[in-house]
Amino acid sequence: QFHKIKYEDLTWVESLGQGSFTRIFKGYKTDIHDGEKHVTNVFLKELDAVHKDYWESFFEAASLMSQISHKHLLLVYGVSVYGAKNIMVQEFVEYGALDLFLKRGRSVSVSWKLDVAKQLASVLNFLEEKNIVHGNICAKNLLLAREGDPAQGSPPFIKLSDPGIRVGMLSREVILDRIPWVAPELLMDPNNLTLESDKWSFGASVWEIFNGGNNPLLGWDLNLKHQFYENFQQLPPSQWTELADLIAQCMDYQAAFRPSCRSIIRQLNSMITSDYVILHAAEPVTQ
Ligand code: ATP
Ligand code: MG
Repeated sequence: QFHKIKYEDLTWVESLGQGSFTRIFKGYKTDIHDGEKHVTNVFLKELDAVHKDYWESFFEAASLMSQISHKHLLLVYGVSVYGAKNIMVQEFVEYGALDLFLKRGRSVSVSWKLDVAKQLASVLNFLEEKNIVHGNICAKNLLLAREGDPAQGSPPFIKLSDPGIRVGMLSREVILDRIPWVAPELLMDPNNLTLESDKWSFGASVWEIFNGGNNPLLGWDLNLKHQFYENFQQLPPSQWTELADLIAQCMDYQAAFRPSCRSIIRQLNSMITSDYVILHAAEPVTQ
């Protein structure tokens, strides 16, 4: 399902800290093609030794990413196994995670954010056509390959990263902590990932993108987060009615009522003109 990469072909450059169940590094991989040496920057995700039981799900994520190809989907070169080490070797994406980028507080225009949403919708549509569920869509898993010009017209370029460990494998605490990205029906049945559950996560991610990459329920304890879903609550709506409406459709507690990707894309495309009105009439809406 995936390409095996020899551990000897990998070089560790620096530690970048921790992911959810991983230690993350910048590095490079060396290949020999027709006697010529090729060096590629890579992002190395090593499954934490304490979470080694997750290895199968970790490799499933790598395998999923290796099987499909789309310009807005992160490239996974393969996996490397060395002793007890399980490593996913990915393309290194220059500007890192989108939530962090937005949190740095640069001025980012509405059309830039709308472009990000459209690019994410295009991968979602691609996955829907292939009947493939991602399972962990959030701004943290959107990587910024090109900044564009956030304040002006030129568009960004994002890539959706791998889903990591499957929701069904995670503890109750970790799942509750993923509120409001995890679809509410998954609390009842975490193994029931569907195309519809990705739509919910898409809605939450679009909310994040338009709210400076902030966690909408930052600091809420797990009980409160749980109550948020129990009470069928919604995230604070955007002032931009069309956007608020799209997010509300995606974050519908009834999975069957969430829109198709075609409808999502149609709605995003029709937002261009209103975007202009907001951008020029009411400055404060731009972050
Ligand atoms: P999860 O499975 O929950 O997504 P993870 O192990 O993928 O967890 P993340 O928290 O998603 O870990 O990623 C950690 C950080 O690594 C991100 O904030 C991002 O800045 C950076 N990062 C992830 N993938 C890449 C990549 N391919 N290139 C550059 N930076 C990356
Ligand atoms: Mg990730």
